[in-house]
Amino acid sequence: MSKIRMEDAKSSYDVLVAGGGLGGLSAAKVLARNGLKVLLVEQHFQLGGLATYFRRKGHIFDVALHGFPAGMIKTFRKYWTKELADRIVQVKSIRFDNPQFSLETTFTKEDFTKILVERFGIAKETADAFYAELDSMNYYDSTSLDNRGLFEKFFPGRNDVVRLLMEPITYANGSTLDEPAISYGIVFSNFMSKGVFTFLGGTDEMLRLMQDDLCANGVDIVLGGRLEKALISGKRLEGCVVSGKKISCKALLSNGNLLNTIQDWVGEEYFSPEFIASLSKVRLNNSSCQVYMGIRKGKSIPFIGDLLFTSVHPTFEPGEILSDKVSSRTYSVYYPEIRPGSGDHTVVASMNAKYEDWGNLGEAAYREKKRRLIELTIGNLSKYIPGIADKIDYAEAATPKTFERYTLHRGGSSFGTKFDGLEPSMKLSEQIPGLYHAGSVGIIMSGWLGAANYGVICANKILKDFTC
Ligand SMILES: Cc1cc2nc3c(=O)[nH]c(=O)nc-3n(C[C@H](O)[C@H](O)[C@H](O)COP(=O)(O)OP(=O)(O)OC[C@H]3O[C@@H](n4cnc5c(N)ncnc54)[C@H](O)[C@@H]3O)c2cc1C
Repeated sequence: MSKIRMEDAKSSYDVLVAGGGLGGLSAAKVLARNGLKVLLVEQHFQLGGLATYFRRKGHIFDVALHGFPAGMIKTFRKYWTKELADRIVQVKSIRFDNPQFSLETTFTKEDFTKILVERFGIAKETADAFYAELDSMNYYDSTSLDNRGLFEKFFPGRNDVVRLLMEPITYANGSTLDEPAISYGIVFSNFMSKGVFTFLGGTDEMLRLMQDDLCANGVDIVLGGRLEKALISGKRLEGCVVSGKKISCKALLSNGNLLNTIQDWVGEEYFSPEFIASLSKVRLNNSSCQVYMGIRKGKSIPFIGDLLFTSVHPTFEPGEILSDKVSSRTYSVYYPEIRPGSGDHTVVASMNAKYEDWGNLGEAAYREKKRRLIELTIGNLSKYIPGIADKIDYAEAATPKTFERYTLHRGGSSFGTKFDGLEPSMKLSEQIPGLYHAGSVGIIMSGWLGAANYGVICANKILKDFTC
């Protein structure tokens, strides 16, 4: 129906979707389009989850609109609307600047191949064979090859090549050389072969269009509604408690963190001991820090590229990217064209981060560390935009604590869990009929594309279970 208050929600729905991240939103859309009565509750006061935005001092800051793969066009067209799909445009300029190389790329297979051959002296056959190996990877094949092994196979001893091919993915989600090559391969094939895309109008416009579409499809949306408990009776789900109100439902789809879902909102006692034991293998992903910088109205900045992967670390060391002695930063520069007519310029610097480096600080130490992070980031950005400090009229930082506060992800995890969360996530309904999860688990089922697609997969599973 529409955006409603919790007290106006009905007492019974077919499906309750808890969480308005891209996974929850996409699932709600597919479920409603197929005739189910859906209530979507989001604990924050706006939709989007990690894919969100905020307004300060006349600026709009996008938190996670740095780039997504071409596949998003198909996902939007198929499961959302043509209008959403038509807003997707390619990111024009992506640059790397580090002690090993400075270069610009379109993030396409052709361009990477050209760079590998002409810039790094790799034989064309080797570059082609690398791409062929990635193309042949199938998620369901079991293989023990890890990223280190994959790169050694094609580019032995070439840390610079590994940096080119892996650093953007490590920046995005903290992937290391020790993780399975299959998960890297699929993300690489999605992300680094057809270019990187963005949403014209910004995250705020995307979420507005999504909300309108959900309402048009009859979804009831409650903002500030928090799933507190799943109610289980006779081993199956019978309802939920949301912000103190009991709602009966045949299915609950949690879009929140997998571990919160099982341990906090359901309770381990409802699962088999084997299932709970298997959770010990599920690792949370790391978190992020960001520095948001708004440029004073009337001032502008030169075009320096849309996405800038910068590092002062001499070589590529995934562990260093996570350290709080920040040596690597990704800048997303938003020119007025992203929000036509706005005249707004903003820059968002993103860094990987560990919760333990921020979560246990006292108030004063936390504030000081944030202040220093902002100061160092602006100093580093001056290298690319001389005089930027004088043009900034708003600067703020987000830390793992910020991400935890706004999304409830434990440890402020920016991509949910690592890939080992996928199996338990997919098996929830085998443990408790009526219970489902579609939230970020691993690098394939996360990011904008993965999260949206996982929501759709889960919605289809619910639809199938409803008709059985
Ligand atoms: C700094 C940063 C930059 C990123 N940049 C990119 C990028 O450029 N490209 C890209 O593809 N991906 C990016 N990502 C990742 C991407 O944004 C996420 O993987 C994706 O948005 C996650 O979607 P999700 O559906 O899994 O859930 P989430 O976004 O995690 O949303 C879960 C939602 O559930 C809500 N919730 C939690 N608990 C409850 C409860 N009990 N009751 C009600 N609601 C609840 C939360 O408030 C939240 O809204 C970035 C992430 C971060 C942190």
